[in-house]
Amino acid sequence: MSDPTETRSVVIAGGGAAALTAAIYLGRAGLDPLLLEGQVTGGQAATTALIENYPGFPDGVSGPDLVGAMEGQARKFGAEIAPLLVERLELGDGRHAVHTARQTIAARAVVIATGASHRKLGVPGEGELLGRGVSYCATCDGPLYRDRHVVVVGGGDAAIEEALFLARFAARVTVIHRRGELRAVRILQERAFAEPRIEFLWHHVVTGIQGSGEVTGVRTANVETGEESDLGADGVFVYIGTTPNTGFLPQDVETDEAGFIRTDLAMRTSAAGVFAAGDVRAGSIRQVVAAAGDGAVAAGSVMKYMEND
Ligand code: NAP
Repeated sequence: MSDPTETRSVVIAGGGAAALTAAIYLGRAGLDPLLLEGQVTGGQAATTALIENYPGFPDGVSGPDLVGAMEGQARKFGAEIAPLLVERLELGDGRHAVHTARQTIAARAVVIATGASHRKLGVPGEGELLGRGVSYCATCDGPLYRDRHVVVVGGGDAAIEEALFLARFAARVTVIHRRGELRAVRILQERAFAEPRIEFLWHHVVTGIQGSGEVTGVRTANVETGEESDLGADGVFVYIGTTPNTGFLPQDVETDEAGFIRTDLAMRTSAAGVFAAGDVRAGSIRQVVAAAGDGAVAAGSVMKYMEND
């Protein structure tokens, strides 16, 4: 193992609900956790305007408020939070090395809670027009599209929830979905069907995003006939699922085919002293409350590991 600049009992990689909950439990247990949150504070929950299904908030709670409160609670119990991105995890015998650009931290236990990022369409124009009409965050960029026409790609909970959010600002929201029915839960579907500003383009995929300097439209293809057509739009919001943030992971930590980390029910991975929690975990239902639950279970397992080690 390369020489560490610092030694900790436990390092938590990630800054969302799973990581912050693990930090609350481990801080409260006196284990002095160091949380490396990367560049994004609060994880995906922090980009959700209103979370309606987190228990205890019958009127919903703003994502930034919820994770902000979790962060305050973690700090209160002694967790240290650093804006460092984990670049490589090097497994050792009883001590692992967590490499960031600035330093290497040795830790007896590591909790990986780095979450997942929005999957990209991979079509021409998507990269070039990112931030110029192409977005993966309606909460961040939605208000820019007041009285405009935006496209939302996808048919899951995220796509429909964000289409509803965008309909508060945009004059017209076109949801483009590759099938003839939505994957989103019924309550979201009913709201979307009842919203006059939302329309659906079924059985279509986006094959390109058009515009020079800013988005002017999308090229679509009918998946049944292959016929292509153009649709003018001022913005494109892509919600076609997520990919795990695990680029730093060594091969010894087992993942599923899509790269999500496999754990047992105690959040233990295939490597001793390495735990995973939240959206990065295979089988996660990708809900804030589940991520928080995972974080608590992972923290419990870290404590047990420390006792037995
Ligand atoms: P998801 O449930 O995997 O849905 C992805 C959607 O994108 C599906 O409708 C899928 O089509 C479509 N899609 C996938 N690849 C595509 C491609 N290449 N081109 C076009 N369309 C494509 O993902 P998600 O909506 O991000 O949700 C992820 C998880 O987070 C879920 O467990 C969800 O319940 C949870 N979540 C929950 C909430 C909430 O509770 N309010 C909000 C956001 C997310 P098909 O339907 O044909 O597969």
